[in-house]
Amino acid sequence: MPHTILLAEPRGFCAGVVRAIDVLDQVLDRDEGPVYVFHEIVHNRYVVDGFRQRGAVFVDYVHEVPAGGRIVFSAHGVSPAVVQEAKDRNLRIIDATCPLVTKVHLETRKAAKDGYDILLVGHEGHDEVEGTKGEAPALTRVVDSAADVQALGTPDRPIFVVTQTTLSVDDTAETIGAIQARFPDAEIRNDICYATTNRQSAVKELAERADLVIVVGSANSSNSVRLCEVAKTMGTPAYRVDGIQEIDPAWYEGVGIVGLTAGASVPDELLEPIIEDLRARGVTTVEPVIVARETVEFRLPAELEVR
Ligand code: SF4
Repeated sequence: MPHTILLAEPRGFCAGVVRAIDVLDQVLDRDEGPVYVFHEIVHNRYVVDGFRQRGAVFVDYVHEVPAGGRIVFSAHGVSPAVVQEAKDRNLRIIDATCPLVTKVHLETRKAAKDGYDILLVGHEGHDEVEGTKGEAPALTRVVDSAADVQALGTPDRPIFVVTQTTLSVDDTAETIGAIQARFPDAEIRNDICYATTNRQSAVKELAERADLVIVVGSANSSNSVRLCEVAKTMGTPAYRVDGIQEIDPAWYEGVGIVGLTAGASVPDELLEPIIEDLRARGVTTVEPVIVARETVEFRLPAELEVR
């Protein structure tokens, strides 16, 4: 049975998620009346359920918000068309988009203005990709793999490459390599963020040493799903769970070392019961595996900083 837990560091909340949660927290605390949130504020079921219980109303469409109401945009960002629709409904907008996602929007907008076709490396349908693509929908193609790159036609204009922030570092390097091979003059921006990169580096260390890796994070959390994939790619059995309730104790049979980490939208409190349960099963050592120390912090939107 398990005797050691390797605890990834960094793991869990990134600066963009902390900021988005703080934004919604403050809006719910300070103001009367309903608060509408466009899409999940961050991709974590526990966090979203907590806000729902406090009265936040999550919507998929701007037209679900009554005219004149308040709308919070999630950490993943929204397209200019969504912003315009909110303005047309005279909504009060509070933007919790991660500044690192905003940076990708600005790169995309500028590249389109400068005459480029855009290749957006990312997962079609993900909230962040939908928002970024919306900066230049007619000029942007989403590519998810080297095979997608091979299937592209010949572009009329020079190519500018941006990426989703939460991709697999290794898979993205492969896709970008394929783009460079086909379009040697392409301008490349790799926008995978520091938090995604650090968490993937940490899970690699875990997977090298552990017999089993558990990743806490929701199924729609891109970076959590990637962490699990990275561990599996290294040949270590790995499972993604929303919390302890999804762990099958049979996974621990024959396992001495358990690696434990969490996606960027996961509160650390979800790991505590897993650690306690493993201690009850005989774990005597909890060893941090530190690959980076993160000091990034983002300021709140100006309208929330001073009142
Ligand atoms: Fe921002 Fe990266 Fe966190 Fe996404 S994962 S919210 S891009 S810091």
